[in-house]
Amino acid sequence: MADKQHVRYYKPKTDFGLDINDIQNFVYDMSRCIKCKGCTWVEHTYMPGSKFMTRCPSAEKFQFDAYGAYGKMRIGHAMAEGLLDWNAKALEVVYACTLCGACDVGCKRNLDLEIELSLESLRVKAVKDGVGPMPAHKKIADNIARTHNMYGSPKENRTAWITEGIKPAEQAEVLYFVGCTASYVNNEIAQSTAKILKAAGTDFMLMPEEWCCGNTLFSVGMIDEATALAQRNVDEVRKTGAKTLLTSCAEGYRMWKVDYPKLLNISTEALGFQVHHHVEYADEMIKNGALKMTRPFETRMTYHDSCSLSRLSEPWTPYEGKRGWMGCVEPRLKRRRGTNGIYSQPRDILKAIPGVQLVEMPRMRENAFCCGAGRGVKEAFPDFANWAARHRLEEVKEIGTETLVSACPWCKNNFTQAVKAGRDDMQVLDISEVICASIEG
Ligand code: SF4
Ligand code: SF4
Repeated sequence: MADKQHVRYYKPKTDFGLDINDIQNFVYDMSRCIKCKGCTWVEHTYMPGSKFMTRCPSAEKFQFDAYGAYGKMRIGHAMAEGLLDWNAKALEVVYACTLCGACDVGCKRNLDLEIELSLESLRVKAVKDGVGPMPAHKKIADNIARTHNMYGSPKENRTAWITEGIKPAEQAEVLYFVGCTASYVNNEIAQSTAKILKAAGTDFMLMPEEWCCGNTLFSVGMIDEATALAQRNVDEVRKTGAKTLLTSCAEGYRMWKVDYPKLLNISTEALGFQVHHHVEYADEMIKNGALKMTRPFETRMTYHDSCSLSRLSEPWTPYEGKRGWMGCVEPRLKRRRGTNGIYSQPRDILKAIPGVQLVEMPRMRENAFCCGAGRGVKEAFPDFANWAARHRLEEVKEIGTETLVSACPWCKNNFTQAVKAGRDDMQVLDISEVICASIEG
């Protein structure tokens, strides 16, 4: 066994890539986890004390090493080597994780290990091995197959959010991809986004027939279904000739910008159109004077970095190369460390609103603590999702803010439900609503 490992990991010039279809691509990363728990602790340089010093919702909630990235790396490694079979507990451990990327960012401070990709690949393996995903995820997959939206709602209601005064154009350079949640649940976010575009003098079109982005399919490891949806959606947008695809959902943003290219084995640039979240667009419009926010919004607020708009949003570049002595790779692999996410734009917007007092939480930017809703957790583990949101709300209370702002309907809904459950005196808003409240006229 030792000889085999020696050949496998140390022989110079071993081929490898970043394709999550094949867990063998990540055996090196999983085997090199040293259980240091750098993926659990927030940066020491600004660790605010003992109260908010961890970054992994799964490890914090379940208080058992298997649930941290270090545990999942051990499980994944053993399974990839054929030393461990699936059982109900292993499946729970693999899916009771928001794939929030906090561990990936934490690990890459010291080691260039691809933790997020290993976790995604492990879920793909679970599905390919016939044990995943969880029953709640299968229901969503069925909804998407039948109705092209994750809620199983009637297709014809997808544009019901369009009220008087909102007039999408037949043809425009900007295409607004609304997403299932803003279309069917959080109409206020879609309406606010349309109002911001109108106020900035920007025409926008919609997809001729918008379908789900496939976030849940991809996140739970249903890679064939997610790839088919990615190809369909990218083809449809290319046909429209749009130059910019705009989202108001962080999860949708990550899908279009990072995971569609990942699934289609192309770079983000090769999509043929740019992908922007509306905060990037609004920030640019405010700075060039096209969008004016003049109405005061007298509120002390804090901003929650949604994982998929922040540390998980760096562009994708396909990679195939060779790994040599001590894990060195060639050609150079540009690591995605989460530091180039969308951090300044939402903060600049909020600070530009008269009357807003923006206060930061201890854990912010790439160290932010996930709201707990994403990547199939809310559906399969609702108690965990609620616990994570309540844990984050404790941080909001700690800094004494009355309003929590995010840039994703998933975050807004999970926080809103947690506020209600805890009977907290707190307002939860999407940033599009805050911008709208300050737009003149
Ligand atoms: S995943 Fe990375 S940071 Fe976490 S324990 Fe392993 S080596 Fe350390
Ligand atoms: S992705 Fe998030 S929840 Fe999952 S192990 Fe990493 S830090 Fe924990």
